[in-house]
Amino acid sequence: MAKTRYWQIEKIEAKENIGSYGAWRREYCGKYRKSLIQARNNSYNSLIKTLTSKGEMITCRKECTYCCFHYVAVPLAHGMVIVDYLYNNKELLKTFIHNYEKWRHKGYNISNIIDHTRTQAFSSSMPINDIIAVTRPLSTRYLEMNIPCPFLVNNTCFIYAVRPLPCSGQYSVSPPDWCAHATEEKAVIHQLVPDDEDLIKIMQLAAPQLMLYEVTLPIMIYKLLTEGNLLGREASVLSHK
Ligand code: SF4
Ligand code: SF4
Repeated sequence: MAKTRYWQIEKIEAKENIGSYGAWRREYCGKYRKSLIQARNNSYNSLIKTLTSKGEMITCRKECTYCCFHYVAVPLAHGMVIVDYLYNNKELLKTFIHNYEKWRHKGYNISNIIDHTRTQAFSSSMPINDIIAVTRPLSTRYLEMNIPCPFLVNNTCFIYAVRPLPCSGQYSVSPPDWCAHATEEKAVIHQLVPDDEDLIKIMQLAAPQLMLYEVTLPIMIYKLLTEGNLLGREASVLSHK
């Protein structure tokens, strides 16, 4: 694959900011981010309440990165918000591109296979349990390949404020080392469950096609940065009708 040229990204960014689409995109990203923070805070507080009542404590700690070697997919609705964050933090954007060039040598092909398998499974209306059964061996293979997320630098996520839901939606109550792939122990993980009202608020912000199109996180972000956002443009037109 050819090396990424920054001037191409700058050209795409200029297009993404032009006219009514640009205004719609920026407003959408701001609102989505606000709703996301609210949904995360509310669900985190209710998880803490539940855990406290059971005498359990979250054991996740700063710079714990075992989660950051997993396959992570993101819907376009959220990918747009990450790209907007990078547009406003140019050094981070450059770091992502630099890391992505390394990531794609190891991570691209397997991620592409997982994305295709997921898309086919979803479009054939396969029951969710069957989809998990089909994709789990592939996700396990990805984990075994030990590929760090391109947003990870010095054991820290540099898009923490806008990280995808799978990254911010789970907390361990077992020793952090149990999350390591090679360990025999099974980590005890609790999922954050956003309440219905918060979920509805987020869903109402994004057109369905922005929620339904979902691919591997690094592939989504790289594509948006280097090719722009055709589906986002369509959604903005629909939202103006
Ligand atoms: S879920 Fe596990 S790997 Fe992720 S931050 Fe918590 S303890 Fe660390
Ligand atoms: S986006 Fe951040 S939290 Fe999620 S896998 Fe990448 S580095 Fe880890």
